[in-house]
Amino acid sequence: MNKPVLLVVDDDPQVLAAVRRDLRSRYRDRYAVLSAASGEEALATVKELKSRGESLALVLSDQRMPGMPGTEVLARSRETYPLARRVLLTAYSDIDAAVRAINEAHLDHYLSKPWDPPEERLFPVIDDLLDAWQAEYLPEAKGLRLVGHQWSPRSHAVKEFLASNLVPYRWIDVERAPDARALLDAAGVGAEGLPALLFEDGSVLRNPEPREVAERLGRSLSAAYDVYDLVIVGAGPAGLAAAVYGASEGLRTLLLDRHAPGGQAGTSSRIENYLGFPAGVSGSELTRRALTQAQRLGAEFLAPLEVTALSFDGGYKRLTVANSREIVTKTLLAATGMSYREHPAAGMAERTGAGVYYGTATTEAPAFSGRRVLVVGGGNSAGQAAMHLARYAKEVHIVVRRESLRETMSQYLIDQIGKTPNIRLRPLTELDRVDGQARVECVSLRSCDDGTCAVEEADAVFVFIGTRPRSEWLPPEVLRDAKGFVLTGRELVAAEAYPRVWKERREPLPLESSVPGVFAAGDVRAGAMNRVAAAVGEGSMMVWLAHQYLALT
Ligand SMILES: Cc1cc2nc3c(=O)[nH]c(=O)nc-3n(C[C@H](O)[C@H](O)[C@H](O)COP(=O)(O)OP(=O)(O)OC[C@H]3O[C@@H](n4cnc5c(N)ncnc54)[C@H](O)[C@@H]3O)c2cc1C
Repeated sequence: MNKPVLLVVDDDPQVLAAVRRDLRSRYRDRYAVLSAASGEEALATVKELKSRGESLALVLSDQRMPGMPGTEVLARSRETYPLARRVLLTAYSDIDAAVRAINEAHLDHYLSKPWDPPEERLFPVIDDLLDAWQAEYLPEAKGLRLVGHQWSPRSHAVKEFLASNLVPYRWIDVERAPDARALLDAAGVGAEGLPALLFEDGSVLRNPEPREVAERLGRSLSAAYDVYDLVIVGAGPAGLAAAVYGASEGLRTLLLDRHAPGGQAGTSSRIENYLGFPAGVSGSELTRRALTQAQRLGAEFLAPLEVTALSFDGGYKRLTVANSREIVTKTLLAATGMSYREHPAAGMAERTGAGVYYGTATTEAPAFSGRRVLVVGGGNSAGQAAMHLARYAKEVHIVVRRESLRETMSQYLIDQIGKTPNIRLRPLTELDRVDGQARVECVSLRSCDDGTCAVEEADAVFVFIGTRPRSEWLPPEVLRDAKGFVLTGRELVAAEAYPRVWKERREPLPLESSVPGVFAAGDVRAGAMNRVAAAVGEGSMMVWLAHQYLALT
């Protein structure tokens, strides 16, 4: 296979030559740099690359070209190469239009001309985009392959595990892929061994649990030290931020997650409002960057590892961890966030993982190409999922009990949904039941107006309602509110039980719970903002507070 391609598109021969020259000077060893003088020529090149089985890593196109504008070239090349990074080249006067185009066409970046010096203005951007592409890209004949049934909950669990732990793999649906049976025969896997994970060295894991996959991938599941300065439970945005600051400030820091890094934010297809990412950033990309940063600074990360209980021994906190030895720490951050409650409609529990999915649409969306799917919920997470699914599914129906999305969803998402022809809002409607043989085939929807029910075909239901804090692993000494959110700082002082439980001479620090040295940050904390930036802010701030606590002990 040839080198992956960087494609440059511009109708101005001088600009085209200059970009090509700069890109070749830096990337020639690893990438082939091709150029096209018009949108039409670029799309013909893209088609030809596909037919030859080549990889396209990045398209960089000028916006103003006669015939076809750059935004259209980038949007259409995405249909053939969904992973390729897309950069728009604009004149300074076109920046407003470029920002609009970023929102509408979901571009990765815009560059304004001129880009001198390239070491400052061109290469850092392209380096970042190519790193992100490399992290997702898997050459056709290489790497991990997962072969299984689309409607198997275990297949879904392994897919989720690999995707959220940022492990590139290729999914092969045993019923649809022509070469699946031959692959399984060659690996000696029968029906009972599905899903099967096939490794490059020829070895196979049959019907594995995520934990077995982690072990086979060489992930360590045991802590390196006996005692830590800071243990962070939960690797969502709050936990990741605490790990970055804890490690960078010299604390012996351990980060644990029951599933994978990223938390709820990691499941988001596009976070549009996080500072510093004008084109938005996918949850997996933000997670990849944050985890790399935390580990580079010296934080230890273990997953999948669930903390099931916590006890206290003098100033030390002892964590009970599923299938592993106890972990001891001087300070602890509970950053376990929230998760979605099970939807009570009949038929949902039996089909979870087989057409019913909670809190994520990114892993399964491609499997629903050309199909009809439902999104239940009216918050931003539901809106983002609907937008993501609309790129694949024939129809996406958003089912909400309210009259409209106005009170529950950000306006930018409402606008995007309004402009997406294959998304239909179903207001004043609730999901009554799902049916189908071993998977979702149809749903019954009830009108909140008159209570009548109607049965409709549907291939999947993505649920984004009813969150609950993940605080069940904390002991009763850590006070929570009636809904289970951890009380900290001022909210703790205002609680009725405060005088009974708090025995220190000082007041609790901000973010400190009713047990000295146990902090909470992010969505699991009472009064949280439920935003990525807020969770990151609290996680970062907690490290400064941990220093204060350690200085007191
Ligand atoms: C689909 C979606 C889209 C979103 N989009 C946006 C957006 O665009 N902008 C925005 O600002 N916000 C957005 N949000 C909200 C944002 O993601 C959350 O506010 C944020 O992730 C909260 O971070 P956190 O670190 O507190 O917790 P979480 O992200 O919930 O992470 C908690 C982590 O703790 C782990 N955990 C739980 N229990 C245990 C245990 N016992 N042991 C070990 N680990 C455990 C979980 O596996 C999880 O990884 C979105 C949320 C969703 C679901």
